[in-house]
Amino acid sequence: MPSLWTRIFDLLAPRHCVMCGGRLAIGEQIICTRCNLHLPRTGFGRSAYDNEMARMFWGRMAVERCAALFYYRAGAEASRIIYELKYRRRAEIGLQMGAMTARELMGGGFFEGIELIVPVPLARARVRERGYNQSLLIAQGIGRVTGIGVADDVVERTNFTESQTQKHRWQRMENVEGAFTLRRPEALTGRHVLLVDDVVTTGSTICSLATELNKAGNVKFSVLSLGFVTMQL
Ligand SMILES: [Zn+2]
Repeated sequence: MPSLWTRIFDLLAPRHCVMCGGRLAIGEQIICTRCNLHLPRTGFGRSAYDNEMARMFWGRMAVERCAALFYYRAGAEASRIIYELKYRRRAEIGLQMGAMTARELMGGGFFEGIELIVPVPLARARVRERGYNQSLLIAQGIGRVTGIGVADDVVERTNFTESQTQKHRWQRMENVEGAFTLRRPEALTGRHVLLVDDVVTTGSTICSLATELNKAGNVKFSVLSLGFVTMQL
């Protein structure tokens, strides 16, 4: 039951669905029930060892389980979730959507054996500019639901200042090799780690991060994101 204060607050400051802009009912979070029903879910959680996302990593890095909440396509309504989270300082979107993703995966054993959640780090300068690391917020939402600890100090993104002005935009975005520096290997050695990102597109960022984390020795990886860019649409 929503409290009296929740009701009063809702009257004074109505909340709106991030996807359609319609007013949220009390009890709805971030997206309305209708948009939630129409969210293009990947269903990857039902076959976490073998799905399009997992196959994308095969031959590039060893992955255990992979899942994403929805198919991401630029311009689609669902992409507003990511846009508002990254560029509008709506931190609660990360926490709530992370929690929602985790709740949907909980029953299927996706989190079994996972000991630590590591969000893809942002460069410090980018965190200052944006106000937060959106992947950390998603990770914290997942952590709250699953009870698995979140570590955002084990690895750092260190290539921010590298000059890449001569490259095309696409290449620049892909240039993530050697972007990360492991800080606390002792927290990772021999553990099963869940890597969390907002959107997984080519998998290059995750591969680069895993390569660095694997220096800790004997690390197992699973991957979870809100959005996944499919090549099959
Ligand atoms: Zn809506």
